Amino acid sequence: MAKNSKVTSSSTRVEKPYNSGQWTAARMRSFISSALRAATRRWGPKHEALKKACVGKKLNRATGKEIFHYKCAGCGKLFKGADVAVDHIDPVVDPNRGFQGWDTYITRMFCEVDGFQVLCHECHGIKTQNEKKERLNARKSD
Ligand SMILES: [Zn+2]
Repeated sequence: MAKNSKVTSSSTRVEKPYNSGQWTAARMRSFISSALRAATRRWGPKHEALKKACVGKKLNRATGKEIFHYKCAGCGKLFKGADVAVDHIDPVVDPNRGFQGWDTYITRMFCEVDGFQVLCHECHGIKTQNEKKERLNARKSD
């Protein structure tokens, strides 16, 4: 067999065309997506969304200090910064369509302020679970 042959004789053999033959396409995709996700920390509209959800300073009973609180777009309750996440209203990967290529991925990842919402961890968890169910259902109907 030629050295660079793409023949896969058995279904157990996984192609590793990336990173000097060490990474599969899936591993490569997760490498790129985590690098892009890290870049959202420097994405202005994400910070704007957090600012928009800020209701000002409130007393934190645990510490006795006044700290900024944020309104959850799901349950409407107020939380301190550590207890909220900025969420993509439309998930970066559409649960029904799956990965649509990097152009789509990047457009959805780096959306404008209206594409973001602030959710408490509980509401964020519920949304994530629902998207997971949607994704599994979409796969079943393939
Ligand atoms: Zn909530």
